[in-house]
Amino acid sequence: MKVLICDPTDPKAIEAMRSAGIDIDVRDDISADDLLIAISNYEGIVVRGRTKVRQSLIDAAINLKAIVRGGVGLDNIDVEYAKSKGITVMNTPAASSISVAELSISYMFALARRIPQATASMKAGLWEKKKFKGTEIYGKVLGIIGIGRIGREVAKRAVALGMKVIAYDPWVKEAENAEMVSLDDLLGRSDYITLHLPLTEETRHLIDRDAFGKMKDGIRIIDCARGGILDEDALYDAIAGGKVAGAGLDVYTEEPSKGNKLFELDQVIGSPHVGAATKEAQARVGAEVAEKMIAFSRENC
Ligand code: NAD
Repeated sequence: MKVLICDPTDPKAIEAMRSAGIDIDVRDDISADDLLIAISNYEGIVVRGRTKVRQSLIDAAINLKAIVRGGVGLDNIDVEYAKSKGITVMNTPAASSISVAELSISYMFALARRIPQATASMKAGLWEKKKFKGTEIYGKVLGIIGIGRIGREVAKRAVALGMKVIAYDPWVKEAENAEMVSLDDLLGRSDYITLHLPLTEETRHLIDRDAFGKMKDGIRIIDCARGGILDEDALYDAIAGGKVAGAGLDVYTEEPSKGNKLFELDQVIGSPHVGAATKEAQARVGAEVAEKMIAFSRENC
């Protein structure tokens, strides 16, 4: 099987695929135009989020049998069109769950103790002990919206920290470490809310002005899922109006999110979409990519 690596991929994964007899070419910064010319030579491609696999590329991919996407989202691939051409599309959804869960938990502590703001104050040469009196997360209610792979990892850790965990997910009736509740119940009872659901037409702006209105005063909210689930304008107003005490954001409506006005607010802390960006998750992504491509080549080539 001849496979093109189109995006940066763990060298160990490339080695594993070669050892399994797969003929690999690595062009992990290939431009869209060059890929359009090269694609007909390959039966498999490995992509991350950078390479866009749209209809025109799929039409040119006359020998393509398999696409492996290292990572979760398949938004850069026209999956249905690829499938209609008999191409198998695979991804590595579980590889980064723990990393994203740990980032979400980190945000809870960072919001409770305002670690980024205290660091900025220390770097400014100040000693603002009174200003940085914090709160504990022990005994607080955590509301998880979307209790899939990541949500469950968050729930397990939050229970171990002594939090009461409630969750809303229209597709899940029971979860091991959480009491399942309605969305309104979750909004009204939570001290912290963390989002772990996909962005779809139904979930866009699920957390809007109306939702903020139903929350407790002093709520802290975390979004490590996808930008757009939270209405950023509504969040801005909810913070400015004193309803929301803090927000931890890894994802944004527009990415890259440079100059986002939310960051003018002291209560907002954030990161540039790094939920899955850990050594361990990247190695797991690589291992799963190799595993899937090797299994595919054994069964089909
Ligand atoms: P998953 O598919 O395992 O779980 C998602 C859950 O959301 C499912 O249980 C589903 O039933 C639920 N859901 C769907 N619609 C819902 C709704 N309207 N209300 C409440 N729940 C709803 O996915 P996952 O692997 O746990 O990933 C969760 C999110 O995290 C996804 O949006 C994913 O793209 C994102 N993610 C972000 C990063 C990052 O770098 N920050 C990395 C990986 C994943």
